[in-house]
Amino acid sequence: MERRTLLKALALAAFARQAHAAPPKTMKGVEELQKNWKTFLPAGASVPSPSEPVKLTKDEWKKKLPAESFKVMREEGTERAGTSPLNDEKRAGIFACAGCGLPLFTSEMKFDSGTGWPSFFTTIPGVFETKKDYYLIYPRVEYHCIRCGGHHGHLFDDGPPPTGQRYCNNGVALRFIPKDGGKA
Ligand SMILES: [Zn+2]
Repeated sequence: MERRTLLKALALAAFARQAHAAPPKTMKGVEELQKNWKTFLPAGASVPSPSEPVKLTKDEWKKKLPAESFKVMREEGTERAGTSPLNDEKRAGIFACAGCGLPLFTSEMKFDSGTGWPSFFTTIPGVFETKKDYYLIYPRVEYHCIRCGGHHGHLFDDGPPPTGQRYCNNGVALRFIPKDGGKA
């Protein structure tokens, strides 16, 4: 192995070991996570970019998505707390949109919120749009995938420092891509 390749492999392995570590202490650390998100992709993986929109009709989404994902993503439903296997997913990798495959979070952005939904303190930059909804009478910040418009969850301000953000995401709206190419 060439020395440069070896160094790169070691650096990537160091990143992988940090999967699901405590959040960085500073915003600069968070920015690093956002900048380095591609190091969590499996080697040779090709993923879509936020600037390639996916527009399907409701019927087309219904055919494309499993019933649970359709209900959450296209009708702004919420999965039952504690039901997602992704709550316990701790491997290094990428959480992508179940609707369109856009990478949304890395494993390093995840934290254990104890809420029963996969939770993240920041996102890969530029992947979500937000709006206010009033389904529970008080206003909540809803967020959805910028590429396919699929609803993912709600954003709260009680996350861990330094961001203080909690992206409370439905597991059925996510697809996990392990970095080592293992079973999703
Ligand atoms: Zn999407």
